[in-house]
Amino acid sequence: MAASVEEIIEFYHDFKKNRLASLAFAVDGIVVKVDAFAQQKRLGFTAKSPRWAVAFKYPAQQASTIVEKVEFSVGRTGTITPVAKVKPVFCAGVTISSVTLHNFAEIERLGLMEGDAVLIERAGEVIPKVVKVNRDKRPDSAKSIKPPKVCPACGGAVVKEEEFVAYRCDNPSCPAQLKRLLLHFASRPAMDMQGLGEAVVDGLVDSGRVKDVAGLYGLAKDDLLKLPLFADKRAQNLLDQIEASKKRPLESLIYGLGIRQVGEKTAETLAQLYDLEGLAAASEEALTRIQEVGPIVAASIHRFFHSPETKKLIERLKGVKLNFEKSAKKATSAKFAGQTFVFTGELQTMTREEAEEKVKALGGKASGSVSAKTAYVVAGADAGSKLRKARELRVKVLTEQEFLELAK
Ligand SMILES: [Zn+2]
Repeated sequence: MAASVEEIIEFYHDFKKNRLASLAFAVDGIVVKVDAFAQQKRLGFTAKSPRWAVAFKYPAQQASTIVEKVEFSVGRTGTITPVAKVKPVFCAGVTISSVTLHNFAEIERLGLMEGDAVLIERAGEVIPKVVKVNRDKRPDSAKSIKPPKVCPACGGAVVKEEEFVAYRCDNPSCPAQLKRLLLHFASRPAMDMQGLGEAVVDGLVDSGRVKDVAGLYGLAKDDLLKLPLFADKRAQNLLDQIEASKKRPLESLIYGLGIRQVGEKTAETLAQLYDLEGLAAASEEALTRIQEVGPIVAASIHRFFHSPETKKLIERLKGVKLNFEKSAKKATSAKFAGQTFVFTGELQTMTREEAEEKVKALGGKASGSVSAKTAYVVAGADAGSKLRKARELRVKVLTEQEFLELAK
């Protein structure tokens, strides 16, 4: 109990000097409270906290040590994080032997080398970090720190994304990233397997039953029943969802592969231009020319499909017969909804395929044969039997020019 502000200040300093280091747990400050309930009541609360209690934090505690080695860890998104293994040192209530270096830009900023003497800092529960390098103590044996060329988890190629400071593992089957990728692959805009939640993914990956996304398609009911929480019905539901996903449109698969920079919209554009193998073989130049793609996304797509790990995965997905087919253009308007067009004869300003695309883009259907249900027959030069049939059935006949007017 303190009788005055001076006594509080004295306690703060005394506690830091004599008690803090010997506590069995980490403490980052003290809290001063008004003791009398009546006064607490009068002071009341702000929107966030009581007015009768104030925290006074101690500055982060620091310690000197040596960086013995720098290791790399792979996060769930594939980001490679450098971690300094330091000579164990006691700081802020715990023994520290591992310190995050965040990224390679941070290593550069610090000018850190392996073997360096460093000052580290730890505040509260925050992960300890290197504050500065003591260059005067740098040994001759100090080694510079280079980003790894291969992923420490899978041996796949590591790429640097030019616009970011991060280095990443680009392997779609990297074990460090697999759980996150499976959840993404199963998400609704991707392959839509609602039964594949976090607990199921953990079980499948940790037990080694699934080693890449293609592995989902080899699961048997027994594999699922061996996992906790899986009864017969739930297992069958998931197997049905996995089976149904084979028919998902190509944009869902492209999105589900988790290619960096490729969101739902880009996946849709790509699926309308290429089948999956065509996309995998597309040159970076061709991809860059696509209006909604551009150079950064094109480079990412090209790099993804040219890694040996992706090639293996695509082969496996082909083997389980996922839908690799190019998607039809989605209707951009409903102008021709419910109407069927038949093209006959030679068109002057476009190919028949282009004309049919135009009809589909406006929500209509294109057919190869004339019936009473045909809304229009578009007759080009040298139209033959279809034009005759249209006249017999009294189907409206348009010239190419009239069709273009109508499609405007
Ligand atoms: Zn990896």
